[in-house]
Amino acid sequence: MPSFAHIVGHRRLTTLLSEAIVRDTLPPTLLFVGPSGIGKFHVARAVAATLNCLSPQSDHAGLPVDACGTCLSCDRIARGVHVDIFALEPDDRASIKIDVVRDVLERTGFRPFEGRRRVVIIRDADTLETASQNSLLKSLEEPPASTGFILTTAVPGALLPTVRSRCMRLGFGRLPERSVADLLVKEHGCSENQAVEAAALADGSIGQALALGSADLAVLRESAVMLLRQAAASTAAASRLQAAGVLVTTPSRKDRTREDVALVLRFVASMLRDIELLNAGVDTPVLANPAIADDLHVLTRAFAGSRAREAFSAVDRAIMALDRNAGTKVVGEWLAMQI
Ligand SMILES: [Zn+2]
Repeated sequence: MPSFAHIVGHRRLTTLLSEAIVRDTLPPTLLFVGPSGIGKFHVARAVAATLNCLSPQSDHAGLPVDACGTCLSCDRIARGVHVDIFALEPDDRASIKIDVVRDVLERTGFRPFEGRRRVVIIRDADTLETASQNSLLKSLEEPPASTGFILTTAVPGALLPTVRSRCMRLGFGRLPERSVADLLVKEHGCSENQAVEAAALADGSIGQALALGSADLAVLRESAVMLLRQAAASTAAASRLQAAGVLVTTPSRKDRTREDVALVLRFVASMLRDIELLNAGVDTPVLANPAIADDLHVLTRAFAGSRAREAFSAVDRAIMALDRNAGTKVVGEWLAMQI
């Protein structure tokens, strides 16, 4: 449902936007910046819905104003058929073509048909071709009457500086793991355990957590624990190479896919963060991997001082190397010698 009350997290930003709508001070061109899969597009839609709602709710869920979520206008926005709300998204070749942009801009030349305020939402605006970005400049500089633009992106650096400078920028943070887990349970039918595990790996992104849903996380996590144990036990090269084996092959000795190796590494990274937390002597540390707290405690001594942090950055580099198509064995052996 397109309303602020239904957004998971981002409370400060939704309050800010709601206040601006009440005071009629919402900037006509907004740029929502933040990691993918955290709800930037949903917030943009909630803005459009609140601006056009037929029975807007005052003081709703602690917000000055919010969309009702059920009127004709809200319903049309939810179904993506409101004639005054345009949502441009990348096509299957991950780009937004200039004809699509031109078509929408032409239609903004008229007054809104049914709504009070036309809103053009451009999702993943970094996928706009350069020509498309240039064609937007004039409209961003002087938006047509009653028209607002909301661009969302995870990589603002890929936008032309001239586009960026014409938009008011709002930064979206990653979601707390607990929020991601709650959403997985409530709206995607995950079990509590599955949800907590996927959330710990998803780096604050619901999109990423959902992509993890199909993997056998328990097996991958066990391999991650084994890898750290091997690395902790000995610095001998032979045993290091065994650790690499744990990473790149399954317990039944089959080669793991690149995606699964990357997942094991994400587990390792999240455990190393937990170990750092434990070593820092925080009173009641909130661990990303509470289910294996005992294993983590055992590992703290081996990863004392700066070792956990150094290992973390080595794992980070290994994940990046996999992203760039490096072979899993090469990456595994390199990493095993580093941590
Ligand atoms: Zn409504």
